[in-house]
Amino acid sequence: MDDRLFRTAMGKFATGVTVITTKVGEAVHGMTANAFMSVSLNPKLVLISIGEKANMNRLIKESGTFAVSVLNERQQDMSAYFAGQIKEERKISFDTFNDMPVIPDALVNLTCDVHQSMIAGDHTLYIGEVTDLRVQDGEPLGFFEGKYKKVI
Ligand code: FAD
Repeated sequence: MDDRLFRTAMGKFATGVTVITTKVGEAVHGMTANAFMSVSLNPKLVLISIGEKANMNRLIKESGTFAVSVLNERQQDMSAYFAGQIKEERKISFDTFNDMPVIPDALVNLTCDVHQSMIAGDHTLYIGEVTDLRVQDGEPLGFFEGKYKKVI
């Protein structure tokens, strides 16, 4: 099967956009991800999928914790930045929530401890047990066919 066809097919699944964050000591790292899903209500588990070559993969292994910020419709620039698509280095003002760095003004900030991880091909799946979360109103940033989309 052709890689491009596979990517095109997967891109037909519309998603929101998140920034995953973690910290090792005082060093904070962020990365854009749309491979995020809810897994279980009891216990409260979520799943993310991180590419084997991503710096985030090594850092989550080390920290054993991560946070997820669900971006709002005005945070496209934040998504592009944490996907490495904007080359200039920026000073980001993270919020601190439950002792973890998170993106301010996101629709959701949640913090997790790694509950389980599994290598799946060229990605690692991290299942996180949610340790705290907070929610605010707003419209989501959507992603479909490799482009940002307004949802509804
Ligand atoms: P890096 O390339 O090391 O960092 C990303 C950028 O963030 C760099 O510019 C870096 O300087 C900056 N940065 C990081 N931390 C800080 C900080 N503390 N202060 C200031 N700047 C900082 N990849 C996946 O593996 N899984 C996915 O689910 C996924 N979904 C994606 C969804 C979308 C919509 C997009 C656009 C990309 C997605 N990617 C995904 C790709 C992924 O975001 C990039 O490949 C990313 O660059 C790889 O992460 P990294 O940890 O190596 O980040």
